[in-house]
Amino acid sequence: MHPRDLSSHTAYEAGRGIEEVARELGMEPDSLVKLASNENPLGPSPAAVEAIREYADRVHSYPKASHADLTAELAERWSLSPGQVWLANGGDGALDYLARATLDPGDRVLVPEPGFAYYGMSARFHHGEVATYPVSKAEEFEQTAEKILADYDGDRIVYLTSPHNPSGSEIALSEVEELAEHTGEDTLIVVDEAYGEFSDRPSAVSLVETRDDVAILRTFSKVYGLAGLRLGYALVPEAWADAYARVNTPFAASEIACRAGLAALSDTEHVERSIAVAHDAREYLYEQLDAPTWESAGNFVLAEVGNASRVATALQERGIIVRDCTSFGLPECIRITCGTEEETRRAITECNEVLREL
Ligand SMILES: *Cc1c(COP(=O)(O)O)cnc(C)c1O
Repeated sequence: MHPRDLSSHTAYEAGRGIEEVARELGMEPDSLVKLASNENPLGPSPAAVEAIREYADRVHSYPKASHADLTAELAERWSLSPGQVWLANGGDGALDYLARATLDPGDRVLVPEPGFAYYGMSARFHHGEVATYPVSKAEEFEQTAEKILADYDGDRIVYLTSPHNPSGSEIALSEVEELAEHTGEDTLIVVDEAYGEFSDRPSAVSLVETRDDVAILRTFSKVYGLAGLRLGYALVPEAWADAYARVNTPFAASEIACRAGLAALSDTEHVERSIAVAHDAREYLYEQLDAPTWESAGNFVLAEVGNASRVATALQERGIIVRDCTSFGLPECIRITCGTEEETRRAITECNEVLREL
């Protein structure tokens, strides 16, 4: 007895964890600065932490009311109906629901390269085929409908990431609309806005209101600082509302996740502070890092450092964990998450020293 043929499936490579690196280097976790996974350097919203404590003694019950409450709150915020909000176990879980709801075996999806690995993984789990379109470094990671359409061949799902991970580039709303106009009736455009809060541009949710072929992905892992809780959602066309009940893993978002999510949504001070910290850090990185960077709309900056693997290893020995982008197909780039002012300044100082020495 064996699992099915998984040879075309790739394993997800997460950014390295603090505890993992600390153990390997024999250092204290607290002495390390982790800027590898685009987490919130301020930690979770204090209101969310309080909600987690408050609801700890209710976890013997299935999260029915909390699920409905969070769905209703999100629906109101986005001016959609509750059926259009698909809560999930992280944004990744929401990607799975979209794949489950759309893909028949052998259907092809189109994903950005470089890009977020889970789009392709999720499609393959659901017996889909994966093709790529370039988000090219030579073209400043520019994203347009025309460029994507050059590789489009009737794909069932086209994934867009805006702000794009790992480059930080964006796609204009008008380009998303043009892409949706020029793709077939059976094509869903998924706009992944995991970093949407850090951008000054409007969400593509306006297209969900007016069209039946655009869905949005959002998460509590980034600006809300709840990556460890696993909470995200998709916003889907009105006509899709009843598909959720047919594809979702029951109670995919836990009682604690829903309660913490509700608390985090109302903690606007934490959200605003998190965005301000990221904006400041981006500026320090552009100005002070002795390496070319790209303007980013996310809470991270991509930098060209030569040999990314060597630079990331040398930085790690100095207690700074960044993302070596070799696995993204960018072996000359590292991605540095926006830290607190102190963390970001320390990362810049160490990185500049490493660049001088190598
Ligand atoms: C972080 C991230 C997500 C979602 O992550 P979850 O923790 O599963 O919510 C989705 N897309 C991109 C591009 C991301 O960077």
